[in-house]
Amino acid sequence: MGWSLAVHGGAGPSKHRTYEAEEAHMTALLERGADMLDDGASALDVVTAMVRELEESGQHVDGKGASANSEGVYELDAAVMDGAARRAGAVAALVGFRAPILAARAVMEKTPHVLLAGQGAAAFCGRQGLEQVPDPAAYYTPAVKKALVQGELAHGTVGAVARDASGRLAAATSTGGLLNKLAGRVGDAPLIGSGTWADERVAVSCTGQGEFFIRAAVAADISARMRYGGQTLHAAAAGALADMEAQGGDGGLIAVDAAGNVTAPFVSEGMKRGIATSAGRFEVKTFR
Ligand code: ASP
Repeated sequence: MGWSLAVHGGAGPSKHRTYEAEEAHMTALLERGADMLDDGASALDVVTAMVRELEESGQHVDGKGASANSEGVYELDAAVMDGAARRAGAVAALVGFRAPILAARAVMEKTPHVLLAGQGAAAFCGRQGLEQVPDPAAYYTPAVKKALVQGELAHGTVGAVARDASGRLAAATSTGGLLNKLAGRVGDAPLIGSGTWADERVAVSCTGQGEFFIRAAVAADISARMRYGGQTLHAAAAGALADMEAQGGDGGLIAVDAAGNVTAPFVSEGMKRGIATSAGRFEVKTFR
């Protein structure tokens, strides 16, 4: 059985600039993910590793590249979902920790809960011994500066979806959310079924204006369209995205199904994205 992998760096890019550095990093990342999957790694471990490296790159609006909220605080959201076991973990409005995706995974693996938020999430991460950010001003290097927001969509996220060689599906998403968001604002990324979803049928990671993805429950809607409507992955993803767009939002997503098909539709100007499969497909692009 083959494997499939897709990653994204958000649907916020603008045609006012190019993204060579981001595309080069994504290429190296996909090669690493491909090696892991060739070696029999689980989809869950691969999506976690991909998102962790995207967080640390500082190239996207998440992890090191996140922007502060309207009160100057770095509040981050992340989620991971293991489709085979239908397990999920997420953190929302997490302050002070370096790897939100590892925090989400710890929620999934070490608690009976799915989502921890705010102070409780931070206290849990502290008890887990997860790496802290002692000096936010020194650590964070916002990928999109507030002064540069003109001409750029003011949001960003990273994500990964995979189907491993055993046929298991997993999805992971991590974000700094919207620039200038209000304190306490939570987007779609950590909401299972909105920005992140994986089951036995499909794994999905979304990016875009989270409020619209929440109201369209985009990620779970793709699975429902496939399950109840018999739609293909491509039709289901395009249909769910069109429903979101019809509410006035924009963005995109990456998704992989149980047969290893991959899709990466977007209705924004661009979406930093990469796809690799064991059948030899390999592409990294930002625009159409
Ligand atoms: N969906 C993210 C959020 O609303 C932002 C993004 O994907 O660009 O938090």
